[in-house]
Amino acid sequence: NKQLLLDNRPQGEATASNFKLVTSETPALQDGQVLVRHHYLSLDPYMRGRMNDAKSYAAPQPLGQVMQGGTVGEVVESRSAKYQPGDKVVGFGGWQEWSVVNVEQPGALRKVDTTHVPLSHYLGAVGMPGVTAWYGLVKILEPKAGQTLAVSAASGAVGSAFGALAKARGCRVVGIAGGADKCKYVTDELGFDACIDYKQHGDIKSMSGALKQACPDGIDGYFENVGGLVLDAVMLRMNAFSRIALCGMIAGYDGQPVPMSYPQMLLTNRMRLQGFIVSEHMEIWPEALKELGQLVGSGKLRPRESIAQGIESAPDAFLGLLKGRNFGKQLVKLI
Ligand code: NDP
Repeated sequence: NKQLLLDNRPQGEATASNFKLVTSETPALQDGQVLVRHHYLSLDPYMRGRMNDAKSYAAPQPLGQVMQGGTVGEVVESRSAKYQPGDKVVGFGGWQEWSVVNVEQPGALRKVDTTHVPLSHYLGAVGMPGVTAWYGLVKILEPKAGQTLAVSAASGAVGSAFGALAKARGCRVVGIAGGADKCKYVTDELGFDACIDYKQHGDIKSMSGALKQACPDGIDGYFENVGGLVLDAVMLRMNAFSRIALCGMIAGYDGQPVPMSYPQMLLTNRMRLQGFIVSEHMEIWPEALKELGQLVGSGKLRPRESIAQGIESAPDAFLGLLKGRNFGKQLVKLI
């Protein structure tokens, strides 16, 4: 069983030398345990925060242990009546090829149906990132048909799901993404009404001008994934009594936090800005997953994936994700 451990914590930007590849035997199964062969590992931006030894909503990733993270795979051996070999499952197996899971622990593993939804999508659109988009949209932005919503990192795992969910509610949806290819995908394949390539806009004035064109009636709800210049420009285009769902600020994850230039707009426009952590709202997951599964199954949401091959490729693929080199949900394929 090849495993990737967190070997040491980043000093400044994360590097491949923070990780260490080791090989070990999988332990024999005890009663109530199953052996899962991982097909895909999920790489997610939040993992960068957990590499630091800082106080946060989640405990830091312990040194010398397998990098934690979401996985999908197949049960190959079972000592529980609840699971049979061949069951496709989503779990939290970490950066390794196999995991032994105690299925008596609630929520440790979930069986999934791959008839209409490919297994890998349970780590993306029909998994944690999709539910993240659903929570921020439905519970924080509370959209009404006809309103204008915007989202940054629009081509990514969370952003793409956000677009489909917002279109299903009759909103005008404007994406913000890095590069012409990502923007073309956002409008042509994901069905957004417009997409702005922020890399074409080097300052707040230029970016806010582009937003004005794409959102002539202003912005009623903004789903923030990035922070920095993009957030600053959006703040200048938000309507009175508008809302911001603060989901992520990836521009500041791999170094210094990025400051916010116009907090006073919150007051001027009587806005509501709310941060959230999707894993603290387990009660909405079944409803969200149902809707996301239907959107993917019916072809209304066509999520894109960036797939790295083999466990050895995980560190570089992860560092690429932090630089925006992924296009869609970043995965590592193991078999
Ligand atoms: P994505 O698939 O969207 O990948 C990250 C993307 O961020 C990159 O592709 C890149 O797209 C974009 N990006 C923008 N600015 C930068 C920058 N300065 N440096 C690097 N990348 C940048 O990832 P996810 O969909 O998994 O996550 C999106 C956001 O949602 C993240 O901020 C994440 O932390 C957050 N999140 C929050 C959760 C919560 O519970 N609050 C749960 C899950 C995710 P581009 O090229 O278009 O710029």
